[in-house]
Amino acid sequence: MLRIDGDGLAGADFGHPMEEGMHEVIGLRAEVRGPHAGTRVLALDAGGRILDWISWQDAVCLYVRDAVAWTLGTPCLTVRGGTNRASGRQSVLELHPIVASTGHCRSHALDPAPALTNAALFARDRHVCLYCGQQGQRGDLTRDHVVPTSRGGRDEWENVVTACTACNLRKGNRTPQLANMPLLAVPYRPSWVEHLILSNRNILADQMEFLVGHLPRHRRPQ
Ligand SMILES: [Zn+2]
Repeated sequence: MLRIDGDGLAGADFGHPMEEGMHEVIGLRAEVRGPHAGTRVLALDAGGRILDWISWQDAVCLYVRDAVAWTLGTPCLTVRGGTNRASGRQSVLELHPIVASTGHCRSHALDPAPALTNAALFARDRHVCLYCGQQGQRGDLTRDHVVPTSRGGRDEWENVVTACTACNLRKGNRTPQLANMPLLAVPYRPSWVEHLILSNRNILADQMEFLVGHLPRHRRPQ
């Protein structure tokens, strides 16, 4: 038995006017039609604004609560639910890769700053040390503060870069100028859409096409 919370977008505060409640779905089973079992659904608001990745279970909640405004793309997941006692038929839900829920997100929730984690930072820099240009493994990469925190540098996207352990040690407590180690790229805060692309390794073609269409022009893949 699988119990799903009523709020289909639990954990993401986008201010949806969704009613409280619990839905019990008996014997839910998802059959993945897409290329990977880790497939997630891209949630939008009714106005087409990009919210976040949600699990297929959360997507099912939106369908069950009749909270789906519209969808995009070819169905990517088939979810088989309980059997209806009256009809004897098993319920089947076809999930689309992009689902717009009813309701609009609050304007302050647009393009929120992605959390600055090491995983997100290394993904932004494509796992390349921004001092020597070498691609590193996760265990060999560090978060370097361009202006060291001891010199008043802040722990924010615009002041941190991926650095291999050797470069980080060599640079030490200096700025790139003082260490004579120029940066290979200027650190920046990824947009929310970039963050969504970087944080999901199992993006479906329909989803990628949609997300890339929402990237700033200069950040689109050539
Ligand atoms: Zn390096």
